[in-house]
Amino acid sequence: MKQIFQDYTQEELRALITPSFRVKQLYSWVYHKYASSFDEMQNLPKQMRLELEERFTLTPLKTVLVQNSSDGSRKYLFELADGHTIEAVLLLMKDTAFNEDGSIKHHKRYTVCISSQVGCKVGCAFCLTAKGGFIRNLTPGEIVSQLLLIKQDNDIDANRRVNIVYMGMGEPLDNLDNVAKAIKIFADLDGMAIAPHRQTVSTSGLSTKIEKLGKMGLGINLAISLHAVDDELREKLMPINKAYNIQSIIQAVKNFPVNDRKRVMFEYLVIKNVNDDIKAAKKLLKLLDGIKAKVNLIYFNPYGGTEFERPAAKDMIAFQEFLTQRGLLCTIRESKGLDISAACGQLREQELESKDTNART
Ligand code: SAH
Ligand code: SF4
Repeated sequence: MKQIFQDYTQEELRALITPSFRVKQLYSWVYHKYASSFDEMQNLPKQMRLELEERFTLTPLKTVLVQNSSDGSRKYLFELADGHTIEAVLLLMKDTAFNEDGSIKHHKRYTVCISSQVGCKVGCAFCLTAKGGFIRNLTPGEIVSQLLLIKQDNDIDANRRVNIVYMGMGEPLDNLDNVAKAIKIFADLDGMAIAPHRQTVSTSGLSTKIEKLGKMGLGINLAISLHAVDDELREKLMPINKAYNIQSIIQAVKNFPVNDRKRVMFEYLVIKNVNDDIKAAKKLLKLLDGIKAKVNLIYFNPYGGTEFERPAAKDMIAFQEFLTQRGLLCTIRESKGLDISAACGQLREQELESKDTNART
């Protein structure tokens, strides 16, 4: 079987490929020019291209479906070599800035949400990815290629700034080694040059792994999927809380090295009549006391068969105002890509269901 080129750091490739000085050129072809075959690499000797083509694949993923949202977001379903599918989303944010003459200029900011596993072991009650169980970890190259394909498909120039969030399918800290390697490959200055402080790992709160990630000293941002402020409710929503309770997560966050200009993000999925009252907001405020935190309130995104409901906008706003008035930074996640069911796992599930239906009819 061919090896996946993007599985390797530049240093590793130098040990695998001779002459090693060619690796930098290869990196440029793959990560700046988005080459999908070695044959395109015209400044490499023909013989070398042939040999590389035999040993490595540059395309571990195949795009099977793209969904466009009215806000410009695009959701991708990718197929892996073994036929499993994963999702990634390109999110477009508009930034406003001023030109020198005082006129307003708008420019787009790209954020790409990528997957780290096929399925997930954590089994959160509200999450569609959890429903299919866990299948396997993604390799570093399968993680990296999600962004590569998205940049290629959208003609995003190699120099354009892109942020990465590991908030797609899977629990990144359950696949820590491969995710850490992907972070480094993304950050390589000869490659995509996406600094670790532009990358955010989101976790359901595996406290010991948060500590381990911190000790790796990668300079990455951290997001915690908290969703509940007392252990009893959190255990119901996220069974992982039995192994790692809220206090253990808070402690791990306090030990985590945070970039001077950054904050730890606490994601709070708001579910109607479950965790949307001011009592919870009060507890949250207390819990995050002393942490350089920001809170991101997320509307629960309903799907067929779920018992949970989307909260009322007025409750979201009241929750947010309670926190911001007391000095805690809090945003409500815009419904980016809502009409393409932005919460990960939802596109894959639709696709699997339709395949099922087709098979039956
Ligand atoms: N496993 C990691 C990262 C992937 S989940 C984690 O849990 O942090 C990424 C985000 O999707 C989480 O914050 C999760 O709460 C959110 N999510 C899952 N199901 C959702 C739904 N139905 N509606 C809205 N957000 C959802
Ligand atoms: Fe896994 Fe995150 Fe979904 Fe929980 S919310 S099941 S941790 S992907």
